[in-house]
Amino acid sequence: MPELRQNFATKEWVIIATERARRPEQMVQHRERKPLAPFVASCPFCPGNEGLTPPEVLRVPASTAVPWHVRVVPNKFAALSREVEPTRTVHRSRRTVNGFGVHDVVIETPDHAQVLALMPDSYVAEILRVYKTRYDELSLDPRIAHITIFKNHGADAGTSLEHPHSQLIATPVISHQVRERFQHALRHHDDFGECMFCQMLEEEMEEQARVVMTSEHFVALELFASPAPFCTHIYPRRHMASFGDVSAAEINDLARMLRTMLAKLYHGLKDPDFNFTLRSAPAENFGVKYFHWYVSIIPRLTRVAGFELGSGMFINTVVPEAAAEFLRKVDVESTESAAAAATQ
Ligand SMILES: [Zn+2]
Ligand SMILES: [Zn+2]
Repeated sequence: MPELRQNFATKEWVIIATERARRPEQMVQHRERKPLAPFVASCPFCPGNEGLTPPEVLRVPASTAVPWHVRVVPNKFAALSREVEPTRTVHRSRRTVNGFGVHDVVIETPDHAQVLALMPDSYVAEILRVYKTRYDELSLDPRIAHITIFKNHGADAGTSLEHPHSQLIATPVISHQVRERFQHALRHHDDFGECMFCQMLEEEMEEQARVVMTSEHFVALELFASPAPFCTHIYPRRHMASFGDVSAAEINDLARMLRTMLAKLYHGLKDPDFNFTLRSAPAENFGVKYFHWYVSIIPRLTRVAGFELGSGMFINTVVPEAAAEFLRKVDVESTESAAAAATQ
């Protein structure tokens, strides 16, 4: 029997199409990815081509005397401009803010052929610390209302550049979708005196059916009302409204979990295209009791079609509990040690 499920946080309904359901292993990607070279002379993100990007805003390590691991540069084709002051105009039915904003590119590694899913945890931690540094800096800017950190991996996830990178866009307004989620969370807190995410996590930990892995500080799970196959969320186990509140120990733990989850998708589904995004409280809501930040990973295995566009309702053909079971079984450590042994 198909089932409609409601997303507790967003109130959106999805159809879990059990009649058309596919086994998780049927979602394995069969297209060939062309092997990449570790250095591409024409790539603006490869070492030696630093002059092809706008001047960097951050580099790790900071010293220019040693090779860099991570660089942050303004996006050359930025969606918004950091050169203007945000000015709002309202004229009858038309409301605008001029195009102020910050659009950073985080170049994750000097190695063109590397993928986040296969990097050492300590490299992933370095990238997360760069996210936090920029997140903290931009949060202090009174012109900025909201910061979105995201990654597009592969053509179906919307990337045009092969070199591993992620992005950060800071906007002078808070989107309707983010605002609405905050209002739901605030209302829930008013009604029940609890963070709805903490409550949901408690139930998920009790039930275990959708939990993929847990660590000291985080839990990764498949969404109960997942709008698409393998939508995975990683939540901090202690209540925290903002990514800016994360501690140094928690960053290291998150790096390990994010890397492992990406590796489970990489090995289990054969390197699917994916997006991930970090959903955190806007600066004006730092420290609130009713919101809880998280990382959302969305493999791009299916396409959005007419029904989704017309109804705002998604049809998911993989049952979230089956997706969780499938991902729990992908043993990253033994897959990687077997691959390493084979190449020796
Ligand atoms: Zn490159
Ligand atoms: Zn919470």
